[in-house]
Amino acid sequence: MSGNPLPVEIKQSGARELRIVWSDGLVSDFDVVELRRSCRCANCVDELTGAQILHPSQVAEDVRPQTIRQVGNYAFQVNWSDGHTSGIFTFDYLRQLTETFNTPSGPPADEAGPAADAEENEQAGGGCSASDCGCGG
Ligand SMILES: [Zn+2]
Repeated sequence: MSGNPLPVEIKQSGARELRIVWSDGLVSDFDVVELRRSCRCANCVDELTGAQILHPSQVAEDVRPQTIRQVGNYAFQVNWSDGHTSGIFTFDYLRQLTETFNTPSGPPADEAGPAADAEENEQAGGGCSASDCGCGG
């Protein structure tokens, strides 16, 4: 058991950016509006089908988190300025969103080439090539 990374710091890092620093060193910068649109509570996502009920256009560009409260050791509960308070963002989900939002900007990482196979040069042997050998080979 290695344990899941936990947030060690959460703060507003810009006008509409929320930063979470994780125990494993990862830094997540969230756009709070995107975060609000990514809410998976029963009011925003159909619990049975998983279909999103909330349309992105329903979320105003000026929505902001008003309070962020840690729930147990697994999630944050956010009170939004639009009155939405039922959203729970689990740490696991936030990590998923980090991968979704953080589009790599650099060149793709070089793939490590396969380790060179050590070719075994088999010594030809066993065959008798001596003409004066009486083995008949
Ligand atoms: Zn919601």
